[in-house]
Amino acid sequence: MKKHILDLSLSEFTKEIELLGLPKFRAAQIWDWVYNKHVFSFAKMTSLPQVMLPILEQTFSIFIPEIEAVSESKTDKSFKFLLKAEDGKLFEAILMIASAERATVCVSCMVGCPLKCKFCATGSEVTFARKLSAAEILSQIFIAQKYALDNKLASKITNIVFMGMGEPFLNIPGVERAIAMLLSPDGFAMSKSRITISTAGVDANFANVINKLGVKLAVSLHFPNDALRSQFMPVNKSFPLAQLVAELKKIKLSKRETITIEYIMIDGVNDQVEHAKQLINLVGSLKVKFNLIPYNPTKMLNAKPSSDDQINKFAAFLNSKSFMVTVRRSKGIDVDGGCGQFALKRG
Ligand code: SF4
Repeated sequence: MKKHILDLSLSEFTKEIELLGLPKFRAAQIWDWVYNKHVFSFAKMTSLPQVMLPILEQTFSIFIPEIEAVSESKTDKSFKFLLKAEDGKLFEAILMIASAERATVCVSCMVGCPLKCKFCATGSEVTFARKLSAAEILSQIFIAQKYALDNKLASKITNIVFMGMGEPFLNIPGVERAIAMLLSPDGFAMSKSRITISTAGVDANFANVINKLGVKLAVSLHFPNDALRSQFMPVNKSFPLAQLVAELKKIKLSKRETITIEYIMIDGVNDQVEHAKQLINLVGSLKVKFNLIPYNPTKMLNAKPSSDDQINKFAAFLNSKSFMVTVRRSKGIDVDGGCGQFALKRG
């Protein structure tokens, strides 16, 4: 099987080039075409001799997923990409433009998600097919970056969030390798503080992974007690809140860092002040900030987002206990690119 260039580091690729009996400098040259000039075809790398092309094409893949559709939000500067992998599987990524200098890409790490959270379109509407490779994860960033540049939306991608389709800690090899290239000076040279992994909490020693990578963590907690959480998030039955919190306690944070607690607000389900009290009892001893997300309607769950009034009451209670609270009006809701809405739809 061909090795994908984006699954390799520059030193690994250089070794491969040398093993083929090709001059070492060709590796750096090809790397420059890919990472700096965003060219994903050996034939289009005009500095390469023609005679080298068949050897490279037989040995390496440089495939980038095809863009099947781009949906542009009418309410904010968000663009959802429906992408087709080499095996025909579809997955999604979203580009969110904050300013001409700041843009975030929300990447998927799986096709579908095996965790099947009930409020989430990915988990409830898309059949889980497979994990994405590091190359497929990085491709999403290249595609979004090219789109942002070509359309003069932003000069660069500044932040990456692993909050698209799939649970990152059930795809540790793919996610770790993609992050290594995001951080590498040979890759995207991003700072650790610009990358966030979001997890629903799975039995995978994820604190170790976060401590090793040094990136930021967001937790899809969403419900403040096991009874409620297990009802909406089946993963809670095998990895209940006590275990999740025990894992969070192992995360090493610098002075200024916090763990983000993601909390979806569903009308009449988990949005009462009593729930906020339970939430504080659960994670209040940790360095956390809360991100309240009004529920984004999906086909499978007959529920409504909490009212603004209820969200404000909930936030005010958390604030009164000195916690930082933000209310995330999900970007891209009208293109089904909001949190929990990745469901492989066109337009
Ligand atoms: S919310 Fe996250 S973990 Fe749950 S099903 Fe959706 S993608 Fe998977």
